[in-house]
Amino acid sequence: MKDNIELICDIAERIASAGEGKDRGELLQEVAFSIAEHMAADVCSIYIYDEIEQMLSLRATQGLDASAIGTVKLSLEEGITGQALRELRPICVGQASTESTYKFFPGIREEQYEAFLAVPILRGQRRIGVLVVQASEQDYFKENDVSALRAIATQLATMFESVKLLKEARQGGIALESKAIGEVQQDILRGRSASKGVAQGISCVLDLGADEHALQMQPESLGADVAAFDDALRRTVEQIQALQVTTSEKLADVAVLIFSAHLLILEDEQFTGRIRELIAEGAAALHAIHLVVDEYVDIFSSSSVPMIREKVLDVKDLGNRLGRNLCSEEAFNSDYGGQIIAVRELLPSDILKFSAEQVEGLIICSGVTSHNAIICRSLGIPMVAISRDAFDAIPDGVPILMDAAQGIIYMEPSDEIITKYQELEQTWRVLNDASDVQEVRRTACGKVVEIMANINLLSDLEPARHFKANGVGLYRSEFPFIVRSDFPSEEEQTHIYSRLVENMKGRPVTLRTLDIGGDKMLSYYSNVSEANPFLGMRAIRFSLQNRDIFSQQLRAFLRAGAKVDARIMFPLIASVDDFIAAREIVWACMDELESQGVAVNRETQLGVMMELPSAVEVAEELADEADFLSIGSNDLVQYMLAVDRTNEQVSALYKSHHPAILRAIHRIVAAAQGAGKPVSICGDLATEAHMIPFLLGIGLRTLSIDIGSAPSIERAIAAIDLAAAEEVAARLLKMGKISEIEAFLVDR
Ligand code: PEP
Ligand code: MG
Repeated sequence: MKDNIELICDIAERIASAGEGKDRGELLQEVAFSIAEHMAADVCSIYIYDEIEQMLSLRATQGLDASAIGTVKLSLEEGITGQALRELRPICVGQASTESTYKFFPGIREEQYEAFLAVPILRGQRRIGVLVVQASEQDYFKENDVSALRAIATQLATMFESVKLLKEARQGGIALESKAIGEVQQDILRGRSASKGVAQGISCVLDLGADEHALQMQPESLGADVAAFDDALRRTVEQIQALQVTTSEKLADVAVLIFSAHLLILEDEQFTGRIRELIAEGAAALHAIHLVVDEYVDIFSSSSVPMIREKVLDVKDLGNRLGRNLCSEEAFNSDYGGQIIAVRELLPSDILKFSAEQVEGLIICSGVTSHNAIICRSLGIPMVAISRDAFDAIPDGVPILMDAAQGIIYMEPSDEIITKYQELEQTWRVLNDASDVQEVRRTACGKVVEIMANINLLSDLEPARHFKANGVGLYRSEFPFIVRSDFPSEEEQTHIYSRLVENMKGRPVTLRTLDIGGDKMLSYYSNVSEANPFLGMRAIRFSLQNRDIFSQQLRAFLRAGAKVDARIMFPLIASVDDFIAAREIVWACMDELESQGVAVNRETQLGVMMELPSAVEVAEELADEADFLSIGSNDLVQYMLAVDRTNEQVSALYKSHHPAILRAIHRIVAAAQGAGKPVSICGDLATEAHMIPFLLGIGLRTLSIDIGSAPSIERAIAAIDLAAAEEVAARLLKMGKISEIEAFLVDR
């Protein structure tokens, strides 16, 4: 006899006991047993979904052959079980053998069961697994059984999250291969990937307060006196001056005086004087440093001036460096070499500084701003964003391995995990080998496809040449503005743009005019905080409102690009009127320069970044008016789907393969083709290899990408036959559901 109420209570109790250290494999088995018993079902099985493999695997069963555990695997396309998870809904079938989707696994004694109920285990939209019950009696499961199993599935989902079993299941097999089910690895944190790559190093938590630092004080620093502090101070000043010089050389476009705040604080008698005073009063030197750093952090963070608030991390970094110099006899040159910094919040300029200080990787617990992610990618620094709770679980000074592509952080990783990642890195190196990249890329059927580079920092130019980019399809010109503490002058900008143009040796270079606002305001310019900054004074809106800043940028680029194929495009264009207004200003700048006797290229191509739903709706008119269109899919997805691209909470909803997006992109390409104008795509969608058939299939022939992705995208292009790609695109454009598109893409 069925007893669903008692069943739900029983499972709740069992799950509660999971927190008391019970073996999770055993627990799953107990849950399966209990469900089968209370529902008087012949079979209860629990499948867990591996997002990386995109496969369901049987983890516990009551009623089927136990040898199937760990061996039976299903894709989302297979069986009623796969269908339930694919469609995110329970499926109750009275007579399974007559269902076309039913899949028998021979040898596990499943054939005899007719009634089949599969309920997905979900956390929001996240697929975790499936609960399945079976019975030999036809039509055995009723509506109330579905409700009971749904309640249990919800409880299980919560348990999986909290005990990290899910985390194990999602590691692409690395930990699972080496661990039996049920062994929970407590030392893994999972977050969101902000910049791919694998980093290994010792954790350095920069957000410790003075008391925590005191707890970690090394014996060498105890009793250190004022003279020792002064020596540490002298070495710190020397190191920072040296860093300033090398960084200004390496990152000339953005790193002008980037360590100036560090040096100013060190020169501040009140800062150093207060530390000396505390030491003289009997405080241990290291403790004195961190006490004063804490005082400054408080003062800076409560300032109403954004520029001062931004110095918080500088003073923390300084405290850390002073402390390390105090504790170590020898000069340390590698700074954060061999370390992974965990810090609550970061600015793009902080990332540059940590990069100059050789950091291996970054862990943050705030949302990832698009500019932070972009700058980390450019500098090759792996970065993971994690929750506040997870952040608090990171101890200072322990070995960490971070798989930033998957957002996984292994604390004190085993030798086995380290070896596996070393092997993986070797494979990635081979896959990303640029030695055989071609300058002319062709599809399998011989059509040429251009790969242009997205350039964020001038240091990206070297890889762009290495990967034989066909030009610059997107230069994100805001970084020199964002990282500095004042506007770069027209001369400074001309210098930066000239280097850009010279390095591309006659290949086209596309300047995207300032895209500030949104998640990045210039702290030195505006103190206005907006309730919805992504819907506020961003990009071309800022430029049109600040005509002097805009004109200065345009003049600088026109001067640098007078003799080459230099193109200009405007971000966040919402209407034809926006474009015309921006173009008028370009033309006015041309007139002005010519009247001053400065040569300009009157043929400079002027384009529109297609990033807004409103622009899509007037794509035909924009294509008529502009010289070219460039699809900014990152923002197009954000604005069309109303999903903040920096908000972790809704990241699962940020789907670039949403039917609305595919149709919008198709419409843009068709509009450009109709007007006989060039069209390209410069958003990250173009780095998704599985989307390349669609993009080429709708007629795109120019992709602008983060150039590190060039080898894999080049391989994807080389494998494509255009007739087949056109068919793929036509089929995708007919699909109205995300799930349908996902199933199709998974299948392929
Ligand atoms: C885009 O929105 O797709 C784009 C390329 O611009 P950004 O990522 O700089 O906003
Ligand atoms: Mg954009």
